[in-house]
Amino acid sequence: MSTPDLPQTGAAVKAADRAHVFHSWSAQALIDPLAVAGADGAYFWDYDGNRYLDFTSGLVFTNIGYQHPKVVAAIQEQAGRLATFAPAFAVDVRSEAARLIAERTPGDLDKIFFTNGGAEAVENAVRMARLHTGRPKVLSAYRSYHGATSTAINLTGDPRRWASDTASAGVVHFWAPFLYRSPFYAGNEAQECERALAHLESTIAFEGPHTIAAIILETVPGTAGIMPPPPGYLAGVREICDRHGIVFILDEVMSGFGRTGRWFAADHYDVVPDLLTFAKGVNSGYVPLGGVAISAGIAATFDHRPYPGGLTYSGHPLACAAAVATLQVMAEERVVERADTLGEQVLGPGLRALAERHPSVGEVRGLGAFWALDLVRDRETREPLVPYNATGEANAPMAAFAAACKKNGLWPFVNMNRTHVVPACTLTEAEAKEGLAALDAALSVADKHT
Ligand code: PMP
Repeated sequence: MSTPDLPQTGAAVKAADRAHVFHSWSAQALIDPLAVAGADGAYFWDYDGNRYLDFTSGLVFTNIGYQHPKVVAAIQEQAGRLATFAPAFAVDVRSEAARLIAERTPGDLDKIFFTNGGAEAVENAVRMARLHTGRPKVLSAYRSYHGATSTAINLTGDPRRWASDTASAGVVHFWAPFLYRSPFYAGNEAQECERALAHLESTIAFEGPHTIAAIILETVPGTAGIMPPPPGYLAGVREICDRHGIVFILDEVMSGFGRTGRWFAADHYDVVPDLLTFAKGVNSGYVPLGGVAISAGIAATFDHRPYPGGLTYSGHPLACAAAVATLQVMAEERVVERADTLGEQVLGPGLRALAERHPSVGEVRGLGAFWALDLVRDRETREPLVPYNATGEANAPMAAFAAACKKNGLWPFVNMNRTHVVPACTLTEAEAKEGLAALDAALSVADKHT
């Protein structure tokens, strides 16, 4: 086999990137992407010999780490056997991936519609809900991220949607609970939950329940700040949906497949949605794959009526082979249980200990391998370390924090005034301690801005 003629130095890789690659979410002239030379397990490295412990899992997708030999081998084997095939056929590896996923999703979510990623999963879940109910509107939370395609970006509450929010007809946002920065002036979790449910009820009453197809929520909102909901909230939303004939969609693109120490975050809250979207961890992102797990009731809507939607690469054999191998590895290596233990015994206590020492840490929240530190100027007022959507000089404290992490060999996930601790679910205790030590040093830099 011939080796492709690739650039051999970091500088050459970067030069070609800067000349020809148009990057996501970026002002093209203002970015300076790291040239990555390789990755293994929880680490990656550049061409200059700098090695980083990855506390981002890529974009929170390498749940079993980089280059797992069994998944790499499964992709190679599938490429040799049947590298691609159109979606309208029954293909062994696609059937098996669907079976394994359906076995793990909660309740009667037993039919799988495959996509190439999360946003397409959300687009299709919403379409299914609208066709199933015959209603137009979808309710979603302000503090949310659901993807960057047209419906998904409109559902996303985060103000980044403004720039591309050209056709938001039918989307209505509401406030989901978040005690640390409560929109309801609640003093405790029980009040926050009660008020958030009352707010949702009144949103539905004002919009007209008969016009609402679906409510979509991330089970544990990720990009917006890793905010586990208070006990009872999701069960309350489930009950509201049932009462009004509204489809309940849980978006588990980020929180699924072990991330929270359960197969799905919904398992923590004993709630079963009507549709569940997934991607990322389903095959650790080795080949793009996402999908919608569909309840029996909604699937039946399309038993004798064609589902009007599809994708050329739906259930691509390479992606499905990677999923089958990943799910096998997760069982063999007890990845879900390990993420739970990592959160309970190492990351949770370790991050809380950092919060005690560093005045810049306002709150630590999370579970499993899914944590956020909310960094603040002032613990009393909870004023964020940098203003919302800050850039340039205004963002300097977070930029200094990120630079200090990298100097200490840690690649951090930084979003506004937060750092998310979202490593591989397979992170060892020793690796976690190494990362916590680097965070400790970097938080001393953040403390200077309190
Ligand atoms: N939903 C959630 C909860 C996500 O976190 C993301 C991606 N971060 C998406 C949807 C969109 O997924 P993708 O980028 O694969 O389209």
